[in-house]
Amino acid sequence: MFMKAEIKVYSGPMFAGKTTALINEYNANKNSIAIRPSYDTRWSELSSHDGIKIPSIQVKTIADLEGILTSNPHITTLLFDEIHFFDEPMFEGNILDFIIQIKNREISSYVFGLDYDWRGNPFKLTDDLINISDKNIKLSGSCSCGKPSVRTQKKVLSESIFDIGAENMYLPSCLSCFKVPE
Ligand SMILES: [Zn+2]
Repeated sequence: MFMKAEIKVYSGPMFAGKTTALINEYNANKNSIAIRPSYDTRWSELSSHDGIKIPSIQVKTIADLEGILTSNPHITTLLFDEIHFFDEPMFEGNILDFIIQIKNREISSYVFGLDYDWRGNPFKLTDDLINISDKNIKLSGSCSCGKPSVRTQKKVLSESIFDIGAENMYLPSCLSCFKVPE
């Protein structure tokens, strides 16, 4: 079978189904491995908001990634969760160069990440990856007003709010409803 490696970017705000998209790609691609930044200790497995889990490997450096490819020579696709965090100080090394380099070795990279932070500023790494990608799939969820969500709204913190989980701190938001909390 002819295979051509490709770079695919799934981008969007929180609560847009990025993890579900990753899990679907994992199930559709037999020789794939899910990779996560090692700072993220929220879950021991990669888990979607609706509770579906798949195994994943946490990495901190390019050497970690090379090690995975060396010990899994049959792998043809790497799935990167939270790609916007594969950057200093959470990750050491140039992930962009690595992804371009392994494409030349016929290994595809499907990356999943936020396009904007909660202040509404673009994540440069996600942007750079979109620029070199073969395919960019923009995902959106739905804002409380009913329009598609394109930003991640941080809830205004107050003394009375003590929950710190991701779901409790952020909301999907459309551009008209989006506000940066003071
Ligand atoms: Zn809205």
